[in-house]
Amino acid sequence: MSGITGLLRGLGTTARTLTRRAHTVQYPHTEPELPERSRGVIALLEENCTSCMLCARECPDWCITIDSHKETSPPETEGGRERAHNVLDRFDIDFSLCMYCGICIEVCPFDALFWAPDFAYAEGDIRNLLHDKERLGTFMASVPEAALPEGYRPPTVAGTAEATGPVTPDGEPEPDEDPEPEADR
Ligand code: SF4
Ligand code: SF4
Repeated sequence: MSGITGLLRGLGTTARTLTRRAHTVQYPHTEPELPERSRGVIALLEENCTSCMLCARECPDWCITIDSHKETSPPETEGGRERAHNVLDRFDIDFSLCMYCGICIEVCPFDALFWAPDFAYAEGDIRNLLHDKERLGTFMASVPEAALPEGYRPPTVAGTAEATGPVTPDGEPEPDEDPEPEADR
């Protein structure tokens, strides 16, 4: 008797939920609407990175690899001194090791790392989860506007690293100082 009661209760529950709207999102046919601050992937703004290594040192999983070399710039004023600066050669994040803690983003003193909501980068081969600086740069297109540094113009199309040079106060790109003379027609 108790078995029949259980069966009827189960059928009752099925009948009640039959007419309710399903909350399941039919991914990949329907893209989910994720909150702006979703921890999908880490984006790199290469221009801001000084190769200070702070993120790599603080990462608990040791999944950031950075290589750089030093270059010197000529003095800006007459009689001044040459300036040495780091040039980034390699910036890799291994997402097969990353635990998405966000420490690297928090400790970066130069606003070079950001969360982007992209999440669809699964790979059949785990080795392909090692993303280099070019790939990390493409994710800048998805970084929420509120998180971007002042004056930065994100790439307009995901997957392209559009030039992000200096901009005027109106947000337009600054003109070249020495534009190429136009060829005679
Ligand atoms: S999110 Fe955490 S684990 Fe992933 S790279 Fe940054 S510091 Fe390392
Ligand atoms: S902490 Fe920031 S500036 Fe320093 S190496 Fe990492 S990303 Fe580059």
